[in-house]
Amino acid sequence: MKVFKFGGASLESVERIRQVAEIVQSFPDEKLLIVISAMAKTTNDLEKVAENFFQGNREIAAQLLSNIEHHHLNVAEALLGNREHALFTQLQQFFTEAEWTLGETPLRTYDYYYDQLVGLGELLSTAIVSAFFNTVGLTNTWLDVRDIFRTDDNFRDANIDWVYTQRQVTEKVQPLFNSINMVITQGFIGSTDQNESVTLGREGSDYSAAVFANMLDAESQTIWKDVEGLKNADPKQFPNTVNIPEISYAEVIEMAYYGAQVIHPKTIKPLQNKQIPLLVKCFLDKNLPGTVISETADVKQLPPIIVLKKDQVLLNITSKDFSFITEDKISDIYEIFHGLKVKINLMQNGAINFSCCIDNNPEKIELLIKTLHEQFKIVYNEGLELLTVRYYQAGLLEELSDGHPVLLEQRSPATIQRLWKK
Ligand code: ASP
Ligand code: MG
Repeated sequence: MKVFKFGGASLESVERIRQVAEIVQSFPDEKLLIVISAMAKTTNDLEKVAENFFQGNREIAAQLLSNIEHHHLNVAEALLGNREHALFTQLQQFFTEAEWTLGETPLRTYDYYYDQLVGLGELLSTAIVSAFFNTVGLTNTWLDVRDIFRTDDNFRDANIDWVYTQRQVTEKVQPLFNSINMVITQGFIGSTDQNESVTLGREGSDYSAAVFANMLDAESQTIWKDVEGLKNADPKQFPNTVNIPEISYAEVIEMAYYGAQVIHPKTIKPLQNKQIPLLVKCFLDKNLPGTVISETADVKQLPPIIVLKKDQVLLNITSKDFSFITEDKISDIYEIFHGLKVKINLMQNGAINFSCCIDNNPEKIELLIKTLHEQFKIVYNEGLELLTVRYYQAGLLEELSDGHPVLLEQRSPATIQRLWKK
């Protein structure tokens, strides 16, 4: 059994969906569990529906939803040739449910309503792809993943109940493959024990696929993308990037940690735990080698890996009364950051001060300053960028730094980080 994941870019247009079908056709005798995310920018559009609904702009929310509806109905019609197919009844039901939500008066949290509305993108895309595949001989079963993935009610970042979900996978998903070779289901969503829909965090479909791969003991997981494979830097930020043919799980986790938007960071653990290789392949040309992510990959073969995090802020926290910032104080500071869910990207401490670099989120920074200011004096510096280079080579760093004034730097034999003014 193999697990495939197709993301939004692979469903961007009718042509692309046909290309996806061609890819799948080239694996005729495989048992495939296929996880699909929402088409192109649908999730962003649904976020706007949720925002407007919650702010009381009902008409705008309804209008935005209706735009999404038209788009999906047009794509479905182009793929199926008419609007007679049972798919259209299924799509209609999804839209009716969303309209009901829009008719409610919001009494619960924003995150709750977000999850009831935003997961619609995956329900629509999978229903369309499944129906289309069945008409072109790719016989498959459509599965509502909310009957399988049980989570807590931490809306927008729900946590999977592994024991319950594993039982569902064993009892409900595995047996489907006795009579069929292909199951199509949604990434990114699940449901609570109260049957409320949840989402697993933006870009969470890679993770959903990894959970399935783990629970089905798949031989591999493939993420099909519109790029060649994993690159040593973001081609939108740097020229001359190269493809990485092989890399370890650990290295990919590090890359994601430093801010590379490669693969959802939660994806690796379920795969590593069962030693399931993760392949990143290009759906535009499946003959390209792509990237293999597994336990062992030779670090010596790796090119320098470059990650640039933009829009950073450096917070300088100094004790007001000249008392030392020792372990107990640092632990208090970390607790405040943790409570506000602010991730520290780089830190350094001295006798009476603590500096750290975080993503620029003005609301959170305001809250941080409010909480910290009784004990500490806080100065902050905006408009910064954090460069991380793994396996740096002489000369490269100077070339990348390009005269930017450096505010903070940290080095270890494998990694260098530089925070600079843009
Ligand atoms: N559709 C969701 C998102 O755009 C999940 C995913 O693409 O993985 O965040
Ligand atoms: Mg996406």
